[in-house]
Amino acid sequence: MTNHSLKCPVCQEPTTKEVITYINTQTMPELVEQLLDNQLYHFECPHCGAVRQVEVQMIYHDPSNKLLIINLANQQYSETLANNLLNLIPDHLDVSDYNLRLVQNIPELIEKVYISHFNQVSDATMEIIKLLTDGLFIKQKPDADINQRFFTIVNNQPKIYYILESEQFFVDYHESLEVFAKDKLHSPNQSPPKGKFIQIDRDWALHALEK
Ligand SMILES: [Zn+2]
Repeated sequence: MTNHSLKCPVCQEPTTKEVITYINTQTMPELVEQLLDNQLYHFECPHCGAVRQVEVQMIYHDPSNKLLIINLANQQYSETLANNLLNLIPDHLDVSDYNLRLVQNIPELIEKVYISHFNQVSDATMEIIKLLTDGLFIKQKPDADINQRFFTIVNNQPKIYYILESEQFFVDYHESLEVFAKDKLHSPNQSPPKGKFIQIDRDWALHALEK
């Protein structure tokens, strides 16, 4: 926990809130639940009552999957930042065989957690599957302007949540795309190396498909 200074985006009043900066999925499973329920970084302004999600630089540690994720909270990555967050992990951790990931914000972190819970494809493969799903989606809705899309799990069903300019909805996850996506990442230099912080996102997937 660290104290975080916040300025309410609605009334501009400054306030201080204690926020979680380290989650260990084995020892703090309740925090994972709160994260997925959008409760962990929920902020209610004591002055005007406005309700928002706050962005916090934090580290997510899943020892059983050897996965570490840093939320940059829309800041630039730096080794100092990474080391400061790694120091929050109580025992010295050898991360050389870990999948190390960077995300820009909490919604991206939540997506990574869902991908790890789904446990069927890597996040790299998932980014390719999302691109392929975009293609199918655009065929049905040629005018759609896709803002964002996230892999998620709803009632135990894998889905991709599309956020458009004026509407939001769930698209079915097509398992048939897995083979094609995995094949695209077949060459070893396209699989993300371990022990190195990488941002696996849409840009990464576009770049991987170009090769
Ligand atoms: Zn306020």
